[in-house]
Amino acid sequence: MRVFGHVVGIPEGSEFENRYTLSQYGVHRPLQAGISGSQDEGADSIVLSGGYEDDKDYGDVIIYTGHGGRSQVTGLQVADQKLTRQNLALALNCQRGTPVRVIRGYKHTSPISPKEGYRYDGLYRVDSYWQEQGLSGFVIWRFRLEKIHEQLATDTVEEPPSIYENSERIEITIQRIMRDTKLALSVKEMYNFECQVCQIRILTNAGLYAEAAHIQPLGMPHNGPDSIDNILCLCPNHHVMFDFGGFSIADDLTLIGLEGGLYKEPKHFINPRYLQYHREHFADKI
Ligand SMILES: [Zn+2]
Repeated sequence: MRVFGHVVGIPEGSEFENRYTLSQYGVHRPLQAGISGSQDEGADSIVLSGGYEDDKDYGDVIIYTGHGGRSQVTGLQVADQKLTRQNLALALNCQRGTPVRVIRGYKHTSPISPKEGYRYDGLYRVDSYWQEQGLSGFVIWRFRLEKIHEQLATDTVEEPPSIYENSERIEITIQRIMRDTKLALSVKEMYNFECQVCQIRILTNAGLYAEAAHIQPLGMPHNGPDSIDNILCLCPNHHVMFDFGGFSIADDLTLIGLEGGLYKEPKHFINPRYLQYHREHFADKI
């Protein structure tokens, strides 16, 4: 059975001599694969072992490169990666808020990797994922992992056993971080809280509700600007679809992946540069 979250009896910082002992203790089961997971359940653990030239490790934030497309002989990227199998598993973690165990190995080139063996470095959440051209020129899938600090990691919710299955489940639910700046609010007001895709307005007991969607995401590594020409006013459904590549937008504002076009107020300038960035990184296919 796949265990998500900490493995009982294995605290963060535990060290292991080799991949075999890591596997024996259930911290990372596969002996070779970097990602342990399935495309139905999500990923339970990953090992950083210096395999990918595109990986970036900032400690609490890791930009992790997906699986596939590498030559068995040279280890070099020789083909495009696809959002399938273990990569799809990590994408599910992102959508479901499932944490993934991170293990750093001695071959991983980062100042914080262990000198020898492997170290369990705790739980991370998959904050976002996208595709881009890697250093090799081939398409790679990338995952932004963010460390879950212990406060949050122990804040687990135990679900009652489901009537459909007998096994008990422990899940961690972490809300997507919403940034609502003054600019974001001004875009929502420009549309009177109406979704630019479906024109639906959501009325709550606290008034109208809409979400501000950044076209090129804020924060590292995308570094999109928090400016009006990079913000859309969307309903929660279309916001999630947009962030996870369910649709994208052509320069003439035709929707790609959905019928119709994006509604736009004449005074709202949407920068085509950011639309292009979104298409290249988040659309289903380039
Ligand atoms: Zn909508």
